[in-house]
Parts: sequence; C-alpha cells; structure tokens
Amino acid sequence: FYRVNQITDSTAIKMRNVVKSFGDVTAVNGLDLDIRSGEFFSMLGPSGSGKTTVLRLIGGFDLPTSGTIELAGVDVTYKAPFERDVNTVFQDYALFPHMSLLDNVAYGLRVRGVGKKERRERAEEALNRVELRAMHSRKPDQLSGGQRQRVAIARALVVNPKVLLLDEPLGALDLKLRQQMQIELKELQRSLAITFVFVTHDQEEALTMSDRIGVFNDGALVQLGTPREIYQNPNGVFVANFVGTSNVFHADVANEIYSRTDSFSLRPEHLRVGDAAAPRSVRGTVTAVVYLGAATHIRVRLDDGADVVVLSDSARNRTADPSIGDPITVSWDDADVVWLSGAA
Ligand code: ATP
Repeated sequence: FYRVNQITDSTAIKMRNVVKSFGDVTAVNGLDLDIRSGEFFSMLGPSGSGKTTVLRLIGGFDLPTSGTIELAGVDVTYKAPFERDVNTVFQDYALFPHMSLLDNVAYGLRVRGVGKKERRERAEEALNRVELRAMHSRKPDQLSGGQRQRVAIARALVVNPKVLLLDEPLGALDLKLRQQMQIELKELQRSLAITFVFVTHDQEEALTMSDRIGVFNDGALVQLGTPREIYQNPNGVFVANFVGTSNVFHADVANEIYSRTDSFSLRPEHLRVGDAAAPRSVRGTVTAVVYLGAATHIRVRLDDGADVVVLSDSARNRTADPSIGDPITVSWDDADVVWLSGAA
C-alpha cells in the first residue's frame, strides 16, 4: 500500500535572504534555498556551520533575524511550530520512558485532541510503517538503539507532516547499525510522499542517502547539487576537502605542465603510482602503505613537500604494492582534473 515517492518540481521549502544572528554570531548569513517536494535533502557541513539553525528556522523553533520562509507556497516565517506542516526527529529521540511504544507514538495525536480509537489506529499504522507494530506494548528501554530510532520516526510521522526534519538522527548509533539505518531510512522516505530534510556532518552519510545535498560552511550555503555533482565537481577547496578525500594541487606544484594560477583537485582513485613515462606526473617518496583488500591506500610525500593519497585498485593493479621510502611517480589523466575556484 506504499506510495512511491516522486520528487516534483513543486517547492516544499523556500528560504529567501534568511539571516539568523545570536548576538555577535551570525549563524545563518543570507540564505537562499529551495527544497523540492518529495526529495531527500541533506544539509552537510562541519560543526558550527549553521545546519541545525537552518533546521530550527524551518521547524519554527527559532525565528529569523530577517528574511522569509515559505512552506508549500505559504509564508510561515513568524508562525509557531504547531502551525507548520512539519515535524522533527531529534538526535536523542526524546521518547517518554514510562510510556509504551503505542502511547509514545500516539502522544502527538492526543495533544491535538484526536479521539482514542483513531489515535490507536493511526499509531498502530505508523508503527507498522517502521515494522515495530508487534512490539507496540514495549517500553523504549526494551528496544535496541535502531528500534528506538524507528519509534521516534513513527512518532513524527503519525501526524502526517509534509516535511520531516531530522537532526543527526543516526548520530548515537554505532557504525554498523548506522549504515543499516541509512538504507532503511532512505527506503522509508522513498515509500512515503514526504520531504526529508536531514542534517549531518558525515559526508558519506549524505552521499549515501540524499537526492540533493547542500554543503554549508560558516553560515553560508557553499554548494548545492546531487551527490554525484558534489563529489565529482566540487566548486572550491572547501567542498573538495570536506566531501570525500581530495588531493588539492596548486599550480606551482606542476607549473611545467599547467599555466593556470589557481588550484585543482584529484581524487585518490584518479591518481596512479609507478608510471614514470606518464605525461602528467610528479615525483615523491612513499610514506605509508595501507592494504585494504579491494584497494591499497598509498601516501606519497611529493618533492615539494605536499602529501597526496593514492587509492590503487587491486583489480587493475596486480603488481606488488610499493614500500615505505620508495621513490615513486604519481600520475593522472587530464580528464580527471577538477579545477577549483581560488581559495573558496
Ligand atoms: P553542529 O554540527 O555542531 O550541530 P551546526 O552546523 O548545526 O553544528 P549550529 O548549531 O547551527 O551549527 O550553529 C551555528 C552557529 O551559531 C555556531 O557558531 C553556534 O555556536 C551558534 N549558535 C547556535 N545556536 C545558538 C544560540 N542559541 N545562542 C548562541 N549561539 C548559537
């Protein structure tokens, strides 16, 4: 009975010139952002970049210093949280420990004055969506971390929000469970006609789950795009370094080859070692070799002092890995070079 989620051209959330200051700190600095209806949108950035503040502004927990926020075409800039068609899943889940799962999930309906029978039906349906209906009489402390997470999601979904805001919801889980929940959450989102706005500082998580990612730094949106666009075409040094591993070269590293004065980036998987005749190459010395099975990570200190990481794919490179201290050539193809704008 699940609907298949469709990302549409209609705009779920529209923010224009939004500023939020806390005293001297500008947490959000003139943000323009359109989030499409039905998409899984992630806000990615380092600690303090303003992601949570943007989420709180959308939810109505904070009011902007200036600017406007629309939800589904309606100006909600100064509306209270309960007047907005959004709900939030917080990192600590905020479940009531003394209540059963059913009562936890039904709580939002009770405060909205929904009658007992309908409350129970809707709470059971929401628990069913996250595959926890059979456990509805348990208390939160009788669940695993991942199950508690799902209860928090069911509780947010039960009031049928158009937008679900999720603030680092997987942050408390260990790596394995976190990776499993990433897939589950993405599948759940796909099956519901709901826009997800997801805050994370984990670039791999954002790449795995999102239809589009907004990368934040210092209160500003620095790049917006699909995971592929963000990874393959970072628009500056910040995004190149923050999303995935990048080797940022400055033109003076290779100025006999490139006449450009700005920087370029090459991903570890686009560098090769040991091809001394390659037209695009620099020389250095191996400083670390980490065999990973499917690939080998090789760290090279270039002759000008910069460090680069090369990911050597075991399937294509059947020769023995180099050893620490070996002089080595690092080479690449022009097609893989990503030019970065200045110091951005
Ligand atoms: P994290 O990943 O650590 O949660 P974030 O990207 O979500 O970081 P925000 O929590 O939005 O960042 O914070 C952005 C900036 O605004 C930070 O400098 C923070 O200290 C500041 N800030 C946020 N909330 C408040 C507040 N209530 N009072 C004062 N300063 C605040």
